[in-house]
Amino acid sequence: FKDAHVTVAGLGVSGVPAAKALHQLGARVTVVNGPAGDRQQAEAAELEALGIAVRLGDADTLPAGTELVVTTPGWKPSSPLFAAAEAADVRVWGDVELAWRLRGPGAAPWLAITGTNGKTTATRMLAAILTAAGLRTAAVGNIGVSLFDVVLGDPEGPRPPYDVLAVELSSYQLHWAPSVRPHSAVVLNLAPDHLDWHGSMAAYAADKGRIYQGNQVACVYNTADPETERLVREADVEEGCRAIGFTLEAPRPSEFGVVDGILVDRAFVEDRQHQAQELAEVADVRPPAPHNVANALAAAALARAYGVEPAAVREGLRAFRPDAHRIEEVAVVDDVTYVDDSKATNTHAAEASLVAYPSVVWLAGGLAKGAEFDELAAKAAPRLRAAVLFGADRAVIREALARHAPQVPVVELERTDTGAMSAAVGTARDLAQPGDTVLLAPACASMDMFTNYNQRGDMFAEAVRALPARTGQAG
Ligand code: ADP
Repeated sequence: FKDAHVTVAGLGVSGVPAAKALHQLGARVTVVNGPAGDRQQAEAAELEALGIAVRLGDADTLPAGTELVVTTPGWKPSSPLFAAAEAADVRVWGDVELAWRLRGPGAAPWLAITGTNGKTTATRMLAAILTAAGLRTAAVGNIGVSLFDVVLGDPEGPRPPYDVLAVELSSYQLHWAPSVRPHSAVVLNLAPDHLDWHGSMAAYAADKGRIYQGNQVACVYNTADPETERLVREADVEEGCRAIGFTLEAPRPSEFGVVDGILVDRAFVEDRQHQAQELAEVADVRPPAPHNVANALAAAALARAYGVEPAAVREGLRAFRPDAHRIEEVAVVDDVTYVDDSKATNTHAAEASLVAYPSVVWLAGGLAKGAEFDELAAKAAPRLRAAVLFGADRAVIREALARHAPQVPVVELERTDTGAMSAAVGTARDLAQPGDTVLLAPACASMDMFTNYNQRGDMFAEAVRALPARTGQAG
């Protein structure tokens, strides 16, 4: 990279570390970005102080002399910049492709995870299991930890500092990562999401499927999601690489599954006398909701593919704690449980938490990203006490509920100011009966009203904690 002219498309959590890594390697870096807000101005200043050129305001034209473009996920494949790169015969890599190519000799293999939902959870579970096995590891990638820090390491420190990495990859990253070859990988599930970026469901699935390319030991798929198995069948893998399914039911040979409340491995059984290896109990998984048991099985399958002992799988799952805003119980007030699943930013994720509770007052709405809500409304209908809808695209949800759950009372909130969440929580509280769950599972992105899903969840939790209990404590 010494003196190579590299253009980085985009600032932010991917662009800034990529630009710094390239600069450190001696490349002549120009970061291009569209119109800049306060955050981008600050990031640009930080990079410029290091001697990295930043061009703000023009995201479409390729800087003269560019030899390589490194792009960040925010940039759609249809962006004019890429057409310009193609016309100039300049290659485009994603940040993950760059990180993969910067790995030194003897670098840690990647155990890679993608899917529409559950990526972060399964990646953290995997890292917890690998850690319990005494391996030097880190959860990296789309999870918010830059791959570059891990791949390049500390130039003064010992190399390589990791044995194996748990790598979360998004469909965007996979789109631009043609040469990544994981040791083993999983597509957890596939449901329509981000179709505006990929162009179609087929293109989205194909990008997810790239995670299986060149796998060495195991391609792990979800037996409940035949599309994930199809992606495995179509993948070009190393000789001897196995297809391993996971299921919430009793596993067949070459599968991971559940028998009488026990997570069981029927794929990597060393002892020929036994047909199955017990790994952990469902109760070891937090929360033990079905979708989360599926995440645990997928993480266990990757760990076992890497040779981790069963005892470490159990120990790792027990040590795992879910991240904030993922089916997080905030409080119980007047016998009503308030649950923050703000991370449910699409219908598939919202469905997973809605079906985990018998009687729900559902808080939903925001930016629907072109999704349809009919299936979700139909599945949720028997469990809904009421729905409180907010945000830009609340009408799409209201209409789907009217079609599939006409008996369910729906309250729509028009306000979009910062007090809106507290109004929504107040309304939900009035609708809830003792024993109910008030569930924030918006099925939508948050950016119409909030900075991100974290802020949306924090405001929910704040509003819940501010609720005065109606019935005083005994005594
Ligand atoms: P991602 O990193 O893919 O966005 P997370 O682990 O952060 O996934 O979880 C995102 C949301 O999806 C959470 O709200 C959770 O309720 C839901 N979820 C997690 N795992 C699954 C799964 N296996 N299937 C469906 N929904 C899931």
